[in-house]
Amino acid sequence: MGLIMSSSQSSEYPLYYTNKIETMDRESLEMLQLDRLEWQVKRCYESSEFYRERFDRIGLKPGDIQSLDDVLNIPPVSKQELRDEQLSHPPFGRYVVAPEKDWRELHPSTGTTGVPVNTIWTEKDIENITLWTSRTLWNFGARPGDIIQNGFSYGLWVAGMSCHYAAKAMGCFVLPIGASMAERQIDYLVNPGSTVLLSTPSFALYIAERMNKRGIDPSDISLRIGCFGGEAGAEIPPTREKIEARLGIDAYDYYGLAEIGPTCASECVEKAGIHWVEDHLLVEIIDPKTNKRCNPGQVGVLVLTHLTKEATPMLRYWTNDLARITTEKCDCGRTHARSEGGILGRADDMIIYKGANFYPAQVEKVIRSFDELDDEFRIRISTDKKSGIDVITVVAEYRAKEIVNDVFKNKVKQAFREELEVTPGLELVEAGSLERTMFKAKRVEDMRVKAG
Ligand SMILES: [Zn+2]
Repeated sequence: MGLIMSSSQSSEYPLYYTNKIETMDRESLEMLQLDRLEWQVKRCYESSEFYRERFDRIGLKPGDIQSLDDVLNIPPVSKQELRDEQLSHPPFGRYVVAPEKDWRELHPSTGTTGVPVNTIWTEKDIENITLWTSRTLWNFGARPGDIIQNGFSYGLWVAGMSCHYAAKAMGCFVLPIGASMAERQIDYLVNPGSTVLLSTPSFALYIAERMNKRGIDPSDISLRIGCFGGEAGAEIPPTREKIEARLGIDAYDYYGLAEIGPTCASECVEKAGIHWVEDHLLVEIIDPKTNKRCNPGQVGVLVLTHLTKEATPMLRYWTNDLARITTEKCDCGRTHARSEGGILGRADDMIIYKGANFYPAQVEKVIRSFDELDDEFRIRISTDKKSGIDVITVVAEYRAKEIVNDVFKNKVKQAFREELEVTPGLELVEAGSLERTMFKAKRVEDMRVKAG
């Protein structure tokens, strides 16, 4: 049993962390957004040469932004443009709007390729981020008195620090273990008995696997809630089911990114999509072909605008992540828009194969729907030497050698055909032979022969 768990489950607490904002009617919410947008656009134009040049190039003035739809006239900012800006105006580029004396923390992006993009937080930014991250943990069911095991990487990554601040602000007991030491993570789950675990879904599955090897059953620990981010997973049904069953918890998904902030959107207990923090962000889903807004429910690229960020505000940041959005009221009572199914993939992760296109998350969904297969997998893209054609092979791990036969393989291939509309090759290897990860998993291996 956890030390102080009982107090956290009582109903003495309200349902919402910030009631007024989270259940505000849409009209009032949009008025608040417009107010904040006008403030943001004006200060970006006045204090940032980077933004002023972009506005002047197309003859746009801050006064031209008079409605939430007018924001479509502002050209989107890509990550590459931010990198180029940093290189031409080192070290932070001219998109920093707050004066240097107000800077408090630096949080660059953690991408594995390219130069990291620096983002800065002022004291007010930290305050806002702490507030909306507390809201996220509250929405998952965390309450004062919970023991929060923060398995997110501390340091430069946005999630570690912000969840730490939020948990403290909520009155929780924080274990700042970070994204390492699976065995010690398990020790703390046993004693003092953490009630909330924060980590990537891949790491949670790895912890569950190690726990099982040590003979520790979910009923031996007090864990109640899992807060999962950094990569897709918690909203892919078979992955969620596995994490929930193996750790004996409710698993929730959230989404964040360095350029915008941590926990920008997160699930509520209804598990009906991730709710956006719309009082701090303007959320758009854009059709990349037309650059117009998608209809509700239609999948497009997520474009985010900071409404309150002081230090490094983004006006229409082109995330390259794919999602859909609905403003239909959720059963939880919150009015903030939701993205059902969470983030559906990255526009540049799309795999094109034999005329069809699919995302790694769809492969994950198939692999994890088979109990005969272990959780880890790879998508290997290579070039056939003779034909020069791309070949895709999914490498998955079998749990028992007996299942490696054509009947089973055909069953998996059939599931691929239904989900992806194409059938990649399938290679089955022994359980445990693919490397496990503690941070974001890299499951696509591109071994294609590059032209030239
Ligand atoms: Zn909800």
